[in-house]
Amino acid sequence: MAETVVDRVARHPALNLKVIIVGAGVGGLLSALECWRKGCDVVVLEKNKDISLLGDFVTVPPSGISTFKLYPTMDEQYQKNFYDCTISIWNPEGKCLKRMFPEWRHVAEKGELPRASLLSRRSDFTRMLYDQCIRLGIPVYFSQAVQEIVEHDDHVVINTNQPGITLTADVCVVANGIGYPSTKDITGIDLPVLDSGYAIARMAFPRSSIPKGSLAHQLVENVDTQPEFRVYLSNDIHLIIWLTKDSGDGKAIESWHNLRESAVLVDQLEQKCSSWDPAVIDFMRRIPGQVVDWGLRSRDPVEQWTSAGGRIVMLGDAAHTFLPTAGNGAVQACEDAISIAECLRQGGKQGAPWSTRVYNKLRFERTSILQQTGFTNREELHYANLDEIARNPEISDIGFFKIGRWVWAHKPEAYAIENYQKCLDYLQTNGSSEFRNTNVPPGHVYRPWSMESEHARMTAGIRSDLKSNGDWSV
Ligand SMILES: Cc1cc2nc3c(=O)[nH]c(=O)nc-3n(C[C@H](O)[C@H](O)[C@H](O)COP(=O)(O)OP(=O)(O)OC[C@H]3O[C@@H](n4cnc5c(N)ncnc54)[C@H](O)[C@@H]3O)c2cc1C
Repeated sequence: MAETVVDRVARHPALNLKVIIVGAGVGGLLSALECWRKGCDVVVLEKNKDISLLGDFVTVPPSGISTFKLYPTMDEQYQKNFYDCTISIWNPEGKCLKRMFPEWRHVAEKGELPRASLLSRRSDFTRMLYDQCIRLGIPVYFSQAVQEIVEHDDHVVINTNQPGITLTADVCVVANGIGYPSTKDITGIDLPVLDSGYAIARMAFPRSSIPKGSLAHQLVENVDTQPEFRVYLSNDIHLIIWLTKDSGDGKAIESWHNLRESAVLVDQLEQKCSSWDPAVIDFMRRIPGQVVDWGLRSRDPVEQWTSAGGRIVMLGDAAHTFLPTAGNGAVQACEDAISIAECLRQGGKQGAPWSTRVYNKLRFERTSILQQTGFTNREELHYANLDEIARNPEISDIGFFKIGRWVWAHKPEAYAIENYQKCLDYLQTNGSSEFRNTNVPPGHVYRPWSMESEHARMTAGIRSDLKSNGDWSV
């Protein structure tokens, strides 16, 4: 039974369990909300002066927002910024080969899953979580860079860059992206963040900046009635154009650092293919301001997310980095947040070090498989047989056009409730009792992998069979 209600959010009885969260990104802020809701005392420490405005849009399918309905004010805010987009595959010449709604939409329409927006502006999404923290009275302290986390038997001590500020907690959730402290500082396992060899060029701007009558304007003409997520495919490159409603506030432009001329991007496109639709090239040339050229770094999957004593635990990008082609960075951070909070509730103050280990065990295989899709999706998109897709759009499931029910229909809170005790028994008996994760593709046999093994496979010309390992159907 809930003990209190604040801002229409029902809170479980107090656990007398203090949780300090490092990082006010998507993962850190949703962890703060979920841990508060489960009865923890929560404090968030963020090194920056404010919520980050960086990044354009994130995709968070139903599993990531599965507890939003329990925060009615926030959910109303979320529904206001809803993008019901189609996603489509285009050839460079500008022909649409396949168009569909996200896989989860028809299930959500039946009421079996929450209605999830295909796109959310990253800064709005984070701001929405932050505003909910404030309405609930959760302290979020900015300009607090955590510099040291020391684990003791029954508590954790956290020091920040502010002289004299030392905090103590029962548990420290490290949701600091790929910043310091790292896996080595927390678990002793040194897993460097490496250059993936890939890059992404991104920009976001109001479509009102594209002049009417220009070639480029042909692309944006119907957007008010039909927001779109277009993926143009060519050899060894893909180009995504997200056409959304124009907020008219110019915010998207302000959120970016100016780094590169759009002409450089056009050169790169033309090097890969000489027959681009002139409207696409004109669209790229008319990008106002400049383009962010973002080198993509990544890290091998790490199986251990907890410190030796279990009181420090990693979450979100800190635990698992994602390439954008996985389309899962934000959603897995959200699922982690929902899962850790329920595990902490189950274990309570005394069991907190085991709660973090259970959360780790429940989450690792799922996130590792999805991390790997960053490589396979990229490969499927870059080497797609466009003629085959044109002939047979119904069965051409490539890249993030094929996600699978196991991903978006997952319910992380219910999963943690159902599996906590079984998983705890398994861990406490060193694997003598039976436990298998079922939040992976049904029938999947987990295979460890690394960035090196993925690169070696691709260099040898071997196509990934990841999506035939288990049931990835809709
Ligand atoms: C700049 C940026 C842009 C992105 N754009 C997109 C996008 O467009 N689409 C998409 O799908 N995904 C994007 N991502 C990835 C996606 O947002 C993340 O995968 C997801 O949000 C995971 O969030 P997180 O909370 O784990 O980490 P982050 O969102 O990286 O948040 C980590 C937070 O921790 C803070 N921090 C770091 N070190 C410390 C410290 N020592 N003390 C205190 N605070 C600390 C950081 O300042 C940051 O606010 C982006 C990520 C970043 C960082």
